[in-house]
Amino acid sequence: MAQPNSENRTHFPWEIGVFDAHCHPTDTLSSIAEIPRMKATTLTVMATRGEDQDLVHQTVASLTGGQTLVLPSGQSVGRVLPCFGWHPWFSHQILDDMEKTETEVTGVTSDMKKAHYGKVLTPPPDDSFILTLPDPKPLSQLISETRQRLLTHSAALVGEVGLDRAFRLPQPWTQQEENRDSQMTPGSREGRTLSPHRVQLEHQKVVLEAQLRLAGELRRSVSVHSVQAHGVVLDLFKKLWSGHERKKPSRRERARRYSAAHAHAESDAEEEHEKLTRVVPDPPLPFPPKICMHSYSGPVEPLKQFLNPSNPSDVYFSFSTVINFNGRSPQKVVDVIKALPDDRILIESDLHTAGKQMDDLLEEVARQICEIRRWDLVQGVQQLAENWKRFVC
Ligand SMILES: [Zn+2]
Repeated sequence: MAQPNSENRTHFPWEIGVFDAHCHPTDTLSSIAEIPRMKATTLTVMATRGEDQDLVHQTVASLTGGQTLVLPSGQSVGRVLPCFGWHPWFSHQILDDMEKTETEVTGVTSDMKKAHYGKVLTPPPDDSFILTLPDPKPLSQLISETRQRLLTHSAALVGEVGLDRAFRLPQPWTQQEENRDSQMTPGSREGRTLSPHRVQLEHQKVVLEAQLRLAGELRRSVSVHSVQAHGVVLDLFKKLWSGHERKKPSRRERARRYSAAHAHAESDAEEEHEKLTRVVPDPPLPFPPKICMHSYSGPVEPLKQFLNPSNPSDVYFSFSTVINFNGRSPQKVVDVIKALPDDRILIESDLHTAGKQMDDLLEEVARQICEIRRWDLVQGVQQLAENWKRFVC
């Protein structure tokens, strides 16, 4: 579909490079072939559940050979930057075994399955509902599988992970509904009615914390989903940051950095020292170095805390047309976008299919942000591109 008035609109500078910070094209596998023909440069592709982890891996493998982009870290990425994580909507399928080793010995028995779902779901479901749910996967196994995937893809991020207070589990498929959309990768809601069952927030936090710690261990950035849970997400970050806060540089330190930055001639010894320190791998951290609050729907007030200079993680905020500009209170997101620093804003489609629709959504949200920030398009698209490159490496 052509944009109405597309001829009247100013040229959109795709040539600068446009990056989707959060999307789900593996939900529609037939759309993957569209990716090389897209105008967007690189898609940050999330995994969310058991059904899509390998699909994200295969998507990267199937698209090799095209143009690659070298990130400031020296990593190169192609059309897809893979991300591996377990979404809060599927967090009930994870069994918290971090304190015991029972499952290693016995596997998950049917009694353990019943006890698990009775504990993590509220209200607790009856046995017939539990029968329709998969055997839960031990958290230790999820973490070691995700670690392996991240090590296989050295530029990969952790995502999509997070907390969601609003969602409820869908009802299981009935026989007459089994004519579900065969184009869609199984596991998502696909228009099923909702059950009354929610996942206990405490359980969601356990699954999220383990994945945030894994991201810190491997120093990978994270894409975080948060619905009606910004305060709890922030509290969890603070728990992981505790004891690692960045210190405000003293006046003497600031003066030293200033003169160092302005001294043109660096001594050979200093350069040599820098080279040596660069080859030493970064030590693991208990928190991710960079965090993106994806489709951020919260108010302006918590931004100060997310962006406190003492936080040892850099927090970014990404926005999508679908989530952020279609709701009832677009003014809230306008205020948030106005309040953010230039260098922490990202754009995303959050779309379940690749292709023209995804390009159009990215263009739309980029134009909206440029208007709100009073950036001209070239300056704005350039800024958004730089922000994405800094976020992912
Ligand atoms: Zn998402």
